[in-house]
Amino acid sequence: MLIVMQHGATPEQVRRVVQVIEEMGYQARPMPGSQRTAVGLVGNDGRVDGSRLAGLAGVKELIQVTQPYKQVSREWKQESTVVRLPGGLAIGGDEVVVMAGPCSVESEEQILTAARAVREAGAAILRGGAFKPRSSPYSFQGLGLKGLKFLARAREETGLLVVTEAMDPESVGLVAEHADIIQIGARNMQNFPLLKRAGRAGKPVLLKRGIAATITELLLSAEYLLVEGNHDVILCERGIRSFDPSTRNVLDLTAIALVHELSHLPIVADPSHGTGRRDKVIPMARAAVAAGADGVMVEVHPNPEQALSDGAQSLYPEQFTELMRETRVIAEAIRRRVAEPLPVPIGA
Ligand code: PEP
Ligand code: MN
Repeated sequence: MLIVMQHGATPEQVRRVVQVIEEMGYQARPMPGSQRTAVGLVGNDGRVDGSRLAGLAGVKELIQVTQPYKQVSREWKQESTVVRLPGGLAIGGDEVVVMAGPCSVESEEQILTAARAVREAGAAILRGGAFKPRSSPYSFQGLGLKGLKFLARAREETGLLVVTEAMDPESVGLVAEHADIIQIGARNMQNFPLLKRAGRAGKPVLLKRGIAATITELLLSAEYLLVEGNHDVILCERGIRSFDPSTRNVLDLTAIALVHELSHLPIVADPSHGTGRRDKVIPMARAAVAAGADGVMVEVHPNPEQALSDGAQSLYPEQFTELMRETRVIAEAIRRRVAEPLPVPIGA
């Protein structure tokens, strides 16, 4: 970290900065310049809380030289993390993994119909929320435990693995019991008690980028999971809020390439929440795979007009089948392939 002093800062103020750095257990390297002095803080292990220094008299700004996260960084671990799932499915390797299904689990019949359709088209993982984070308390809130049981049934019948959201620390255990991947939603990306609990749940976690979160913040949230001992973390770019209301969010494709540089963790894209518009989901899903996403998560509903949430961005099953076809071609063009779904369990 570099502490830049104001023009005209006194030698006494510089000395005080040096003293505080040493009190914090680091070494200080004052660098007098023609305009102003800067003080280098060395021995920084990526965990310096600069707030004490920022408030000192004569300090103009702090410049971070190293990243504030550690275990999630490529510097910490060179080789890409491959998250291994039951049945040999893996996220972060050569294969692009497609997760698909409705926004919400609405009934047993709805989730089973959706599961059969997305499996038929070639998805490997079934998505569907049982606990729904809705902007309005009057909107459908999800079926809760009943929804988890329907998902587990769909898994038994189709062989699809299941990803579903846990909204609070209390529901993490239940979600972990019924699902293969615990989803942390965008609104909860910085719910630190939830992250800590999910980090101890013994199941992979899909961490969605917050609605207005920087990439550094996303990686810091992932760091919480790794610090708790969970290394099976999949990041998800799901669009960020912008000034332009033309689409629900702006899918940040650069984040995919950037995260691959900064971190060893896999990253998938969610073009459904990223665009909010059915007709834009397909081109953005294609683009995400081309940009190097390790997977895509897409909302598909057997009957989008009747959906209890996010119908406008949910694909019709036929559209999803077409998207799968295109995704296979794009994956091949970048020397990857789309993961096949696991075999249907015997006796299902
Ligand atoms: C979802 O995936 O159903 C969801 C609510 O997504 P997000 O948290 O990205 O809004
Ligand atoms: Mn949704």
